[in-house]
Amino acid sequence: MHFAIIGQGLAGSALAIQTAKRGHEITCFDLNVANSSSRVAIGLVNPLVLKNKTLFDPSQVYFNYFDRFFKGISKLFGRDFLSRNLIREVLQEKQEIHNWNSLQNNSKFDSCIGPIENLNIPTIKGIGMGIIKNSCRLDIKSYLKTIREWLKENHHLRDERVDSIRLIGENILVNDEKYDGLLLAEGVEAYWTEKIFGKLDLSPTKGEGIIIKSRKSNFDFPIHRNIFLLPEKKNIYTVGSTFNRNFSLQSPSAEGKESLIKDLSKLFLDDYEVIDHWAGIRPTTKNRKICFGWHSKYKNIGFLNGLGTRGVLTSPFYSSHLLSIHSK
Ligand SMILES: Cc1cc2nc3c(=O)[nH]c(=O)nc-3n(C[C@H](O)[C@H](O)[C@H](O)COP(=O)(O)OP(=O)(O)OC[C@H]3O[C@@H](n4cnc5c(N)ncnc54)[C@H](O)[C@@H]3O)c2cc1C
Repeated sequence: MHFAIIGQGLAGSALAIQTAKRGHEITCFDLNVANSSSRVAIGLVNPLVLKNKTLFDPSQVYFNYFDRFFKGISKLFGRDFLSRNLIREVLQEKQEIHNWNSLQNNSKFDSCIGPIENLNIPTIKGIGMGIIKNSCRLDIKSYLKTIREWLKENHHLRDERVDSIRLIGENILVNDEKYDGLLLAEGVEAYWTEKIFGKLDLSPTKGEGIIIKSRKSNFDFPIHRNIFLLPEKKNIYTVGSTFNRNFSLQSPSAEGKESLIKDLSKLFLDDYEVIDHWAGIRPTTKNRKICFGWHSKYKNIGFLNGLGTRGVLTSPFYSSHLLSIHSK
């Protein structure tokens, strides 16, 4: 079958890989804009919900698919897009050390709570760092770029807006070309998904981040306390992200930057300058559930959306699951 896929973010890319694996031909349409959710995402995978210290996926299903999927990706492209430098949660109070140790002694958290390390980074304020096991970071930009090149070489990639979909009998016409199947992975825009499947439960959230150039800091793993501090190059760190449901502008805002700097001041003691500031909109849903499925009448039209804050981890599972429940 020849599938049209709309969107080459995390959802569309995973769908493209899984669709090709099943022997289908693909034409992927994407606007190729720099500020799409996937292109500005930080790329972290974290088994722990840091805010309330619960397990994100007690069943480990997402992680099993994630590991398998990215093993396949590194085999296919001959490189690993994952950095396995584990996230460290900065602990600043004795009580936090005590709480972390209690979690570590609870077998439920065996897969994610590691030991406490001494904090010997002079520019980070704290008394210890709790290691988060099984965390990692996807180099999203390189991953998406590589999938893009692969689509160009092995399938078809169109940097164009899909502004026409017509369904005539069994025929699916996308921008006036005929396809056997259609997969919608439009992220927050969801124009065609909502037109074909009805209103989704989307409640988008804005995320902002800054890039800072520090004077003397030097560490090579992600650090978290309210916000993430992520090493990029020597002295260069990404700080992010904010999470905001009420926003009017999609562009970076003064309030977003201020909130990041405020959080950073409670954690980071080095001098720095802000060298970049960006924003993106996450396709989050009201009930936090990922939405996907096939059309009841048009059997070869499916969609995947609502990946929310954890698209890196969840896209391998949902893309695979969606294709496995396709009836044809
Ligand atoms: C600031 C920020 C930080 C984040 N950090 C993380 C993180 O650390 N870890 C994590 O797992 N997740 C993170 N996320 C969330 C993650 O980015 C999302 O879950 C994911 O990007 C959603 O992917 P998607 O493919 O559904 O949507 P998108 O990335 O938005 O992709 C949809 C694509 O569809 C294309 N498109 C839409 N309509 C059309 C059309 N009509 N014609 C052609 N193309 C079209 C768009 O151009 C776009 O490229 C973050 C998000 C933000 C904003």
